[in-house]
Amino acid sequence: MSVQPAVLQDSFARELPELAVRWQAQAVSDPQLIVCNESLAANLGLDVDWLRSPDGLQFLVGARLPDDATPVAQAYAGHQFGGFVPRLGDGRALLLGEVVDAKGRRRDIHLKGSGQTPFARGGDGLAAVGPMLREYIVSEAMHALGIPTTRSLAVVATGRPVQRETLLPGAVLARVASSHLRVGTFQYAAMTGDVELVRRLADHAIARHHPAAAEADNPYLALFDAVIAAQAALVARWMLVGFVHGVMNTDNMTISGETIDYGPCAFMEAYEPATVFSSIDSWGRYAYGNQPPVAEWNLARFAETLLPLFADDQEAAVALAMESLSVFRRRYDTAWSAGMRAKLGLGPSDAGPLIDELLALLQANRVDYTSFFRHLGEHARGNPEPARGLFADLAGFDSWAARWRALGPDAALMDRSNPVYIPRNHLVEEALVAATGGDLAPLEQLMTAVVAPFDERPGLERYAEPAPDDFGDYRTFCGT
Ligand code: AMP
Ligand code: MG
Repeated sequence: MSVQPAVLQDSFARELPELAVRWQAQAVSDPQLIVCNESLAANLGLDVDWLRSPDGLQFLVGARLPDDATPVAQAYAGHQFGGFVPRLGDGRALLLGEVVDAKGRRRDIHLKGSGQTPFARGGDGLAAVGPMLREYIVSEAMHALGIPTTRSLAVVATGRPVQRETLLPGAVLARVASSHLRVGTFQYAAMTGDVELVRRLADHAIARHHPAAAEADNPYLALFDAVIAAQAALVARWMLVGFVHGVMNTDNMTISGETIDYGPCAFMEAYEPATVFSSIDSWGRYAYGNQPPVAEWNLARFAETLLPLFADDQEAAVALAMESLSVFRRRYDTAWSAGMRAKLGLGPSDAGPLIDELLALLQANRVDYTSFFRHLGEHARGNPEPARGLFADLAGFDSWAARWRALGPDAALMDRSNPVYIPRNHLVEEALVAATGGDLAPLEQLMTAVVAPFDERPGLERYAEPAPDDFGDYRTFCGT
């Protein structure tokens, strides 16, 4: 095993120099490791003992890199809450480079909170311990749930204070992703008016994420179709676990189909499509139930950047884009319905009306989404009480459950499909507050629960419970 990444490759910076600004991380005099993802490190071929050493910590804050590394800030644009911003980019992040992991997969190593870059737009370029640990917890929980996502390698305290509403301790997150190509990256390239740049970017994306598209008659349309498929599948997975991303701007939507940018995200407890956590999303644009149409809207913005590559004739290009995009809904519905049938322990049957009725019951009774499905598995095994106990309208639920039981639900399939442990908001807050004050025990305990979410274990009961009533209305903040 190598002591440090022998090489950090730089295919992005080399192939797309127009989208990369060479940059250095801000120096950190006394970095302290808060948390390190040992299994991910091993998977990347990084030696864990080295990562924990002073040299490793200097690597994790971007100060000590292999000689030929080319750290860059990446340029991108984006629609933020529907309004277009032509120049966003990595204002406080750096792409250190790419490693090819044990399975031959190329993955970005990227820092967040590593200091101002030319894209900082007045921001301080920094990040606080709490939000970086939040990304660490939630991204690793999503990965354990089987949902495509960027990963978190480590969070390192910088010892530098960060001014938010109050002074907070600073940190750098080391993030791992199959790439950081976003819809907003294409929007930035398209804005330059250089069609050949968009073509090179698309070729890079095809080679990296959707290689089958290269063989198609129209590779760029095939790329668009592949991203539609990946995003339809991804958002269906979010919906099935009750995940609310919170800031689905086009710069926070990947071309790979991985979840990215864990800012104001949170998991829904009581089933309610209008659920919003983000304090700045006052119109509910990114509410739980709006996520599928927002993804489709973002994909339309992606298509606009590719039109000159779809066909020479603009009208023909638009027609092709519309035809492809019309498939999103069907793909999403198919993925979501299949997932929901698995959650109910049912095979490929016509469960449609039964599902609609259940969701109406969950909403009317304000039932905790995650624990309901897990308890329903016990119902399938003949113990209805834990699920029944969640409903005020017992007659309504019993009538539904009788029809569901008649279909012969598979309890083992339900246990594989319905997590016991998700990073519940009150538990995440508890862990972040403790860790910010120097106590890592709650964080470690929460991680133990959420990295094996389907595996119910004694001693972790409180990690399966909804928030206590006095936790109140949960709000998340974007100023991370
Ligand atoms: P986000 O909301 O994290 O997706 O970030 C949106 C944009 O704001 C990106 O261009 C970020 O690089 C930039 N940004 C967010 N926070 C900061 C910060 N503290 N300093 C500089 N840029 C930031
Ligand atoms: Mg972002």
